[in-house]
Amino acid sequence: MADFEKPSNTEDEYFAREDIEKKRKLAFKQGQELEKKRRDELKNLHFMKCPRCGMDLHALKKGDVEVDTCFHCKGVWLDAGELEQLMETLGQESSGKVMKAVLGLFKR
Ligand SMILES: [Zn+2]
Repeated sequence: MADFEKPSNTEDEYFAREDIEKKRKLAFKQGQELEKKRRDELKNLHFMKCPRCGMDLHALKKGDVEVDTCFHCKGVWLDAGELEQLMETLGQESSGKVMKAVLGLFKR
């Protein structure tokens, strides 16, 4: 009798473990999906909003680069690589020119 139950118990344990593993994977996947959804919501909420004051950002063209600017707090924001691109556009030894170009964004 005991010999009969043993394989059955092992089988039950196997399926129980399989079930637990399936549920663990599902919970992990759901967590990842929730995290992505949260990131997307945050991105939608903050896209083209000033990180300092929260007002709308406006893309102003400076050479080939579009510099995101805030007319409320006069913040100037650059995407990855845009500072280098501005420097390149304005030529060598251009750090002074870049600063002038950025500072001059709000001048009329
Ligand atoms: Zn601002």
